[in-house]
Amino acid sequence: MKKVVKQASPAAIAVLRQATALAPKRKKASDGLLPSSAHIKQSPNSDHNTGLAVDLTHDPKAGIDCADIYEKLKSDVRVSYLIFNGRIWSKEKGDRKYTGANKHEKHLHISIKQGGFTRDTRPWFPWLGEPKALGKVISKVSRPKAKKETPSPKENN
Ligand SMILES: [Zn+2]
Repeated sequence: MKKVVKQASPAAIAVLRQATALAPKRKKASDGLLPSSAHIKQSPNSDHNTGLAVDLTHDPKAGIDCADIYEKLKSDVRVSYLIFNGRIWSKEKGDRKYTGANKHEKHLHISIKQGGFTRDTRPWFPWLGEPKALGKVISKVSRPKAKKETPSPKENN
């Protein structure tokens, strides 16, 4: 059995926080970080035990479309594997049918790689834009300066 930690990793917590910042009205019924005692019994080797897994509720109406997120997160270096809607993906084995008991139709399961990614809270959903509350702060530090518009020579003359 994997040792059960008391706190989820900052990287996993960031998934839920950022999703809420981007889609404040999203449903959270199937969100999860740490396992319940029933979950531990059922899946003693779950990544939830280590704090490196997160369940994100599928709520496309409110802007959290886990089918889309499943596809996009395949290119995120932090991801160990993903499970959604009867499919499982990992870089090593690719996209295939998920045969576990829970098909994950209501939530996307994200397992995060160990090592350097535990505290990696970079945006998980960069294609959805910056969350409104964080937008101002982020744009001050990291947005590259807009290119100065140089008037065309014709206009100068
Ligand atoms: Zn899960």
